[in-house]
Amino acid sequence: ETTTPRPLPADPVREARIRELSRAHVLTSWVAQKAVDPLPLAGGEGSWFWDYQGRRFLDFTSQLVNVNIGYQHPRLTEAIQEAAARITTVAPSFYEESRAEAAAAIAELAPAGMSKVFFTNGGAEGNENAIRMARVHTGRHKVLAAYRSYHGATAGAIALTGEARRWGSEPSIPGVVHFWGPHLYRSEFHATTEQEESERALAHLRHTVEAEGPHLVAAIILETVVGSNGVIPPPAGYLEGVRALCDEHGIMLILDEVMCGFGRAGTWFALDHWGVRPDLIVFAKGVNSGYVPLGGVVLSDEIAATFDERPYPGGLTYSGHALATASAAAAIRIMREERIVENSAEVGERTLGPGLRDLLGRHEIVGDVRGLATFWAVELVADRQTREPLAADKVKAVQQACVSRGLWPLVMGNRVHMVPPCVITHEEAKEGVAMLDEALAEVSA
Ligand code: PLP
Repeated sequence: ETTTPRPLPADPVREARIRELSRAHVLTSWVAQKAVDPLPLAGGEGSWFWDYQGRRFLDFTSQLVNVNIGYQHPRLTEAIQEAAARITTVAPSFYEESRAEAAAAIAELAPAGMSKVFFTNGGAEGNENAIRMARVHTGRHKVLAAYRSYHGATAGAIALTGEARRWGSEPSIPGVVHFWGPHLYRSEFHATTEQEESERALAHLRHTVEAEGPHLVAAIILETVVGSNGVIPPPAGYLEGVRALCDEHGIMLILDEVMCGFGRAGTWFALDHWGVRPDLIVFAKGVNSGYVPLGGVVLSDEIAATFDERPYPGGLTYSGHALATASAAAAIRIMREERIVENSAEVGERTLGPGLRDLLGRHEIVGDVRGLATFWAVELVADRQTREPLAADKVKAVQQACVSRGLWPLVMGNRVHMVPPCVITHEEAKEGVAMLDEALAEVSA
């Protein structure tokens, strides 16, 4: 049963005022301000949002891949209101009920032997603290991070990031070394099978560790499923191989689950698919669907024990903010009771995945379709043989053709990321795929 929430009546005066104030006073991330004219968003419900022009859109972005529970979930907004009425500001030097509840709930979802949580305001701060924990725990300083990764925009997190978003912040913090992770469609290793790609990527990582001096390497950090750089699930054996390499040299494995965690990959943590236990898990986004800013790190008991004996050299005024942790505890409870993680897996397996894969056979400009659950990328190419990316103006045309039909997709480079809220119904998923299908046909014609 598709719920089709109604948009607000058009309100051009209000829209014009928002545009005017925003243009004058708001600096928008990552873009030249003159080049963009963002849509003022008025409201949302479930998998839909609407504007001030009386239009509604089926949301296949989940904002920044974080509104996993959908917009304005009534039970979650109610839990936040209740928490706000009780207490909103409790310093990390006190214990507080919702902080305790949220930490316990998150630890329960993590692999055995990971029982403590450090809270931050988002994913970048989570990664900052994870590398600090790994460095203090090991007494080493180097951190190996992947090309084709995004880890956030604070000093350390942007240094870890392995793509162009880092360039504007260089020189960044010292001690970070990049390596290539596996990605068969654009293999750096001339591999032709997943197995070859996995083995060659592991051999490359091993060489990198050896060349850097294993005794100097504190951590290897990976997105369990690479997110904004292409929705790239790891091939069989890769994560297990990285874990074994880390164990061999006493290196901490940090899995960045900021985008892929909390239902996005159809499991609570994406790492559940591969059964690998990291030393640190970084989370944010889906933990409370972004209703209040929150992120954090789950620590292995071994790393946590380090800070039984010595102070943890880090902290934030808002570490474990009551409103944020209350929303996380409630979001996890609601996601369990309403089987939202299961829904993400089922819609992905039965409707969204098959529907998107079908586009490969229908459009020459679709070069690759990959992903799982509610986490997909459709890669657009000018030439299927050479895999040359589709020109930017054509990608933009696909985006506009989607928007004109009422579908709002997340476009990253030459890829259309199809990442709806995890609550999306089979009907809505079908509708979204159909609109993309039509948009691709329109641009191909
Ligand atoms: N890590 C990953 C994998 C992400 O996708 C992101 C954000 O998109 C971050 C970290 C940074 O999180 P935040 O923007 O909350 O700092």
